Amino acid sequence: MITTISHDKSIHEETEYDVVIAGAGAVGMALALALNRLPHHRILILEALASHALQPLRPAADQGRILALSWSSIQTLSALGIWPALSSEATPISAIHVSQRGWLGNTLLQADTLGLEALGWVVREPVLRWVMAKALQSSGVAMRYGTRLTAASSDMSRVTLHLHNESKPITTSLLVGADGTDSSVRAMFDLPASRRSLPEQALVFSLHCAAECGTVAYERFLEGGVLGVLPLGGRHVGCTYVADPQRVERLASQHEAGFLQAVDAMMGGRLRPMALLGETRCFGLPWLMAQTITAPRTVLIGNAAHTMHPVAAQGFNLGLRDVAALALALAKGPDPGDQAVLACYARERLADYRQTACVLQALLKVYGMRLPGLAVLRGLGLGLLDVMQDLGDAVSLWGMGAGRPYLPALWLGGIHDVS
Ligand SMILES: Cc1cc2nc3c(=O)[nH]c(=O)nc-3n(C[C@H](O)[C@H](O)[C@H](O)COP(=O)(O)OP(=O)(O)OC[C@H]3O[C@@H](n4cnc5c(N)ncnc54)[C@H](O)[C@@H]3O)c2cc1C
Repeated sequence: MITTISHDKSIHEETEYDVVIAGAGAVGMALALALNRLPHHRILILEALASHALQPLRPAADQGRILALSWSSIQTLSALGIWPALSSEATPISAIHVSQRGWLGNTLLQADTLGLEALGWVVREPVLRWVMAKALQSSGVAMRYGTRLTAASSDMSRVTLHLHNESKPITTSLLVGADGTDSSVRAMFDLPASRRSLPEQALVFSLHCAAECGTVAYERFLEGGVLGVLPLGGRHVGCTYVADPQRVERLASQHEAGFLQAVDAMMGGRLRPMALLGETRCFGLPWLMAQTITAPRTVLIGNAAHTMHPVAAQGFNLGLRDVAALALALAKGPDPGDQAVLACYARERLADYRQTACVLQALLKVYGMRLPGLAVLRGLGLGLLDVMQDLGDAVSLWGMGAGRPYLPALWLGGIHDVS
């Protein structure tokens, strides 16, 4: 196994690998950490952006999107050995408060009444990537930042890859496309996907509040939108406002005092925000579902295979389930590109995608309805979905029979045979 860092000349001379992962987003890096525990795997990660290389300093507290992680994700991150470093940066969700503006009723779903330590954990995505990049730097995984995969072709025994800044092609037994929603690996192998743009946008921002915010998350239904509020520890919360572009623009264009007042009103005075932390960021909401996720010696994972509405906080959690399932599958045999192993992996994962998408679509339908009397049901439906997704991992409440993959703790010790 080779040990390199991105500026080491030796990795640019190496041209043969067992697994090449295109994309060093959180999902691609998690897979590299997982596969690094398997014996005899020479792994390379390619990342198009030079800015994704490990920065010496921890990302500032006001940067990036905020992720709610499920129980199964925490199990996998623990098995990868990074939860101890990440847990000090994560805030547990002890309860979810679901309410509808203009209605008196609300629902409080609590971890302790369900016998759980927490319903989920909240982390900032840049911090998660930073912790993973640090772990990778001291691993045997080779990384090339500022290196875009531009072409790939495969035959029975190898995949040949061309990189934009290197004349010599490299070869690998398995190519993993972890290169996000606009995946070039998906395009290179002509893998079909249904794709559309959802009519809403998401505005992401963090707030400093007048008092300690505790560990309660809020899901607040509003006329024509929904505001999710996640605890970030102390007086800080991370918010995602999903609504039509006009409403998002109206909120985003306010000066700070007006913005804080509008958010306070949306939350019915519960938050008492004092200041915006950092910038507000607006995201379009693509929806993508690959119909086929494998080609010869090639597989898609993470957003490259599925990109979902953020309202149910599932994208990264689903991507980590890809990582766990693929690592477990590859641990069973010596050839990471074995077509039978990849076919079996794909069958299992497509079933999970379909199930998740089904629940999400039902949820969005209910959420989109404007019939009188449905407001409370709508709120209940959404709140229950969040909790049941997490519980589904822990006690199979929502799993409809099927277990959800995560890496066993044994993985940390370097598991070699999990069959
Ligand atoms: C507002 C919002 C809130 C969200 N909240 C949650 C949440 O609470 N919980 C949750 O689980 N999920 C959430 N998600 C979803 C989650 O953020 C994504 O699912 C996850 O970050 C996707 O990670 P990824 O690694 O698959 O893709 P990406 O992060 O897109 O990474 C892909 C990487 O591939 C690189 N790349 C692309 N092309 C190439 C190429 N040709 N060669 C080399 N590299 C390439 C890119 O530069 C990029 O670094 C949210 C999303 C949004 C928008």
